[in-house]
Amino acid sequence: TAVSQLVASLLRDVADFPKPGVVFKDITPLLGDGEAFGAVIRELAARHTGAAQPIDAVAGVEARGFIIGAALALELGVGFVPVRKAGKLPGETVQRTYDLEYGTATIEIHADAVTAGQRVLLVDDVLATGGTAIAAWDLLTDCGADVVGFDTIVELAFLGGRDAMGERSVHALHVVT
Ligand code: IMP
Repeated sequence: TAVSQLVASLLRDVADFPKPGVVFKDITPLLGDGEAFGAVIRELAARHTGAAQPIDAVAGVEARGFIIGAALALELGVGFVPVRKAGKLPGETVQRTYDLEYGTATIEIHADAVTAGQRVLLVDDVLATGGTAIAAWDLLTDCGADVVGFDTIVELAFLGGRDAMGERSVHALHVVT
């Protein structure tokens, strides 16, 4: 699609980041292009505006999920729920710990950030192995939210995130094979 091509044209491959052998997909050229950034946000929003079951809130994972998520929430006219690395939120929180290649990571949300049955859309910039998205999805579910889907700008298909997500619905604007 046009948006997939637009994303592809504004993605930068950075070799050996954050460590040797990894090719990091950098979305900052896309964010820096106002027209393209707007087109991407509107494309994501279009799938949810006028839907039979509209979403009530957007959740995004620190840090790039905040950029995409806040813009999308504004476009949809709903609130934003920040999913943060442990220790950043001031109030009472609920956490999830998940495995990384080396070690573990813990993410959290405020215990009162979502209400029971609230329809929440989860977003991030890149789906890689799926570990982050699964942890965030399940954390929101732990808190009573009805997570309706995970939307991402880029999916790195060769890392198997979509399979790892199982039954959880995934939508990507651009898939890297
Ligand atoms: P996962 O948990 O392995 O799916 O990794 C996804 C998380 O790591 C997301 O929060 C992404 O922002 C980040 N991430 C992983 N790989 C990349 C990349 O190549 N570019 C940008 N972000 C990435």
